[in-house]
Amino acid sequence: MIVMKFGGTSVGDAERIRQVARIVHSRLSRRPVVVVSAQGGVTNALIDLAESAVRGPVRDTALRRRLSGLLADLALPPDLLSSEIDELGSLLEGIRLVGDLTPRSLDRMMSFGERCSVRIVAATLTASGIPARPVASYDVGLLTDSTYGHAEVQRESYAAIARRLPAMAADDEVPVVTGFVARDREGFLTTLGRGGSDYSAAIFGAALGADEIEIWTDVDGVMSADPRIVPAARTLERMSFDEAAELAYYGAKVIHPATIHPAVRASIPIRVLNTCRPDARGTQILGGEGASKGVRAIASKGGITLVHVASLRMLLQHGFMARLFAAFERHRVVIDMISTSEVSVSLTTDSGTPLDAVAADLREFAEVSVDRGKAILCLVGEGLRDVPDVLERVFATLRRSDIAVHVVSVGASRVNVSLLVDAAQEAAAVRALHDEFFPAREAAEAPRR
Ligand code: ASP
Ligand code: MG
Repeated sequence: MIVMKFGGTSVGDAERIRQVARIVHSRLSRRPVVVVSAQGGVTNALIDLAESAVRGPVRDTALRRRLSGLLADLALPPDLLSSEIDELGSLLEGIRLVGDLTPRSLDRMMSFGERCSVRIVAATLTASGIPARPVASYDVGLLTDSTYGHAEVQRESYAAIARRLPAMAADDEVPVVTGFVARDREGFLTTLGRGGSDYSAAIFGAALGADEIEIWTDVDGVMSADPRIVPAARTLERMSFDEAAELAYYGAKVIHPATIHPAVRASIPIRVLNTCRPDARGTQILGGEGASKGVRAIASKGGITLVHVASLRMLLQHGFMARLFAAFERHRVVIDMISTSEVSVSLTTDSGTPLDAVAADLREFAEVSVDRGKAILCLVGEGLRDVPDVLERVFATLRRSDIAVHVVSVGASRVNVSLLVDAAQEAAAVRALHDEFFPAREAAEAPRR
């Protein structure tokens, strides 16, 4: 069997949902279990409603209108979602009366998105001739702790799902399971963190021993660079889990690697596919090392601040690094890159973080300068560290484009080389490196004269 997960845009409107039905139809022989997100934007709308209810009566009419419009467009019964909509109304009224929104009530609130989505998708499949059944993940064993908003899945969920999901649907029925939501031991609904439906797909895939997990989204797969920066970027056919993990930090939002870990641990291949172009091959993400060594993708991230800490007196004394990290820890500021010399330490953080307090603490024992407006570039590829000429080519390429590199980090990970440049040169640097490591196909394939 396979797990097919459809994200928010893939189930965002009637046309897309019909397309989902066609795609599921094309996979019937592989006995799919479908996992769905809420319609794109619905989770946010639910959060907004809950937050407004704290302040007074709210009108959930826009959301109702969207859902009933969807039912009408799909020619589904207008009362298909009435029990969810009624419950939603009562919950909003409860929040208003109490005047307080707890993380637990917010999770219940957010659950409506996926709970409505499974009904809509299952009914559409059934109407198109594919018998399907909406399934609440928490009714078939998905159990978490009580960390509302970011709940942790409990180990026993896997065996429970393997036992209970097959019993839930008839042999010829496709189960359509809620992504993102679960429940805790006390029976309260929980959620797995924003974007958590991928995680649900990985859990169900691992629990059921799927042959493959398909993540259906709105792009062709993972690309060699951000296509908004590099129009010639190409879709990668295959990448390793570690490569995907490195890219995720740089906003390659296709998939969050932490969420697919259950699948990787169970050696289940994952394929990222485009709902609008179902015949494209997508990107396959595999555990273990990638097929070949070398640069696989180039990512970047702006909004980075460089912090330079120098202390002639202290640096080589033991305890210096501990004090330095303690200052960041105290103010909960995350460090990305770090590089050290005999008398100084350079580190980078996201510019959004409150650095002033950290800098003040650091100034008690070192000189500190803060340099905003930087960007991190990251080259990702298995075995990059061991490919001899990569760094040489990176520096030669950037020098040709007059791009200065402020910090370099190599070797911390087998699959990543990171560089810090001025944000104003971020796009130019990505383009130059992409040209260098991914020469245009025509040029590469043309016979040499
Ligand atoms: N609907 C949830 C969210 O918007 C989960 C998901 O889409 O994966 O975060
Ligand atoms: Mg998503």
